[in-house]
Amino acid sequence: MKEPVPCDVVEQAARDALKKRGVKIEDIADIVYEMQAKYSDNLTMEDCVESADAVLCKREIQHAVLVGVELDVLAEKNMLSEPLQSLIDTDEGLFGVDETVALGSVFGFGSIAVTTFGYLDKEKIGKIRELDTNKEQVHTFLDDLICSIAANASARLAHRMRDREENRGSQDIKKREDEELIG
Ligand SMILES: [Mg+2]
Repeated sequence: MKEPVPCDVVEQAARDALKKRGVKIEDIADIVYEMQAKYSDNLTMEDCVESADAVLCKREIQHAVLVGVELDVLAEKNMLSEPLQSLIDTDEGLFGVDETVALGSVFGFGSIAVTTFGYLDKEKIGKIRELDTNKEQVHTFLDDLICSIAANASARLAHRMRDREENRGSQDIKKREDEELIG
């Protein structure tokens, strides 16, 4: 039987993949801030960075990042077979699998994540817009993955802010978070 891959190896690979493709945690945090600032007067960038980082600890997100970035990179190197090569390379509007992979990883964070994902997918703000308009590289999957991570981090933060407003202790918040996390 083949050995399972240790989860710290998977997490590091997903974080490295984002970094190699030019996406920093701060880029995602900027989007989260824009999404959540209107709902909270005392939201800080630090909160947004922390939330984006926490989302990257989830296996479902890591797996989606690894699959999506791999396909972008292979398409960039012309290494896929046709017609998939052209579908991904040209970011064919009706392809849809890039959105499906990214959407699959927002359900774990609830309805705010799902609706925020839809909004970001349409509006393409900040880094998402930059990736979408950069025609030098293939970002067919990456832009949707960033929508997903930012949407999840926004939803997570919305719930944390409420917990904070209700003066829940950090232990209580952590316990609730651990129970909510799938994978
Ligand atoms: Mg796309």
